[in-house]
Order: sequence, then C-alpha cells, then structure tokens
Amino acid sequence: MNLISNSINVDNNGNINNVGWVEWQHVSFGFIHCPICLVLDKCWFCFNKKPKIPQHIKCHCIVNSISKPIANINSKATCDIRKFSEYIFSDKYAWNGKRKLFESLGFSKEDSQYLKNEYERQAVKNYCDGQYSLGNLDISGQRININIEFKRNGRQVVFKSGWMVKPKGLITNNTPFAG
Ligand SMILES: [Zn+2]
Ligand SMILES: [Zn+2]
Repeated sequence: MNLISNSINVDNNGNINNVGWVEWQHVSFGFIHCPICLVLDKCWFCFNKKPKIPQHIKCHCIVNSISKPIANINSKATCDIRKFSEYIFSDKYAWNGKRKLFESLGFSKEDSQYLKNEYERQAVKNYCDGQYSLGNLDISGQRININIEFKRNGRQVVFKSGWMVKPKGLITNNTPFAG
C-alpha cells in the first residue's frame, strides 16, 4: 500500500484518518490525452475527498502530498456577483423559487455584493477545512458542494452551493443554491 500523507490523526474510536491534502498530477502516457484527467491536473483535494485514482484503466495520474491550504493565502473562492444580481434576483428566473427564499431572509438585489463576499468567505474556509462533498466530474472539472449558512431574522438557513475545483487552490461558484 502506498500511503501518501503529511499528517495522520487517530479519532476517538481508534480509527486512523488521513487528513492530508494532495495535488492531482496528470501523467500522459504516449499519445493518450484524457480530457478528464487533464482538467484535474494541479487541482487540490483533501486526501479522503478526491476523485477516484486511477480514474480508469491506463490512467497514469498520481497525487502528490501538499500542505493544507490556507484560506485567502494560497486558496481562494470566487463567486461572480451576477450569480445573485442576474440570476437569483432576476425576474427571469423567479419561477424557480430561489428568489423567494432569499427574500424571505430579508435579502434583495441590493445585497448581491454582500452575498458574493459572504459566499466567498465561507466557501474558501470550508474548502480548506475539508468541509465539502464531491459532486459530478466531467470534462469541465470536478464539482464540489459546500454549505453556506445564514442566520437572519432569528432563522438559520443552510444553502447547499455548487463550486468547481480549479488548479492551485482556486474554487469558482457554479450555483449559489443547488436546492
Ligand atoms: Zn483519464
Ligand atoms: Zn489519469
């Protein structure tokens, strides 16, 4: 067994958990260029929440141990403000009910900048803490889900948001609310 880790931790039940982080390395072999392995190249994952490796027969990809990413130092989340101003709060998409939910928390289109900032702040922190779940993987990349939490008007609401993992610690928002 090939153990790749930079830290091992043992939980209360005596189970050994690997809490290290890895960087995916695409290794092309001959003339085989696989678009999925290529899009994962240099992407960072928590050791126990990474795409399956090898991806397929004749996949030569490897993962290299890296140190845990640090939010806003070497890891960053970006969310386009238009995800709110032109999607969540637009008339065009009001039918999907997402606007209603945000409005019930007291948010309006004018809060788009605040929401963008808050999503980026929480997402990069949760990502670096390994608080994410793996979503779909295809030639566009590996999607992950991250919970974004708001306490408003005495209510606590958790939005499951969708992000794309990009190389070198970057994640970008796909959807603010995949509900
Ligand atoms: Zn591949
Ligand atoms: Zn591969």
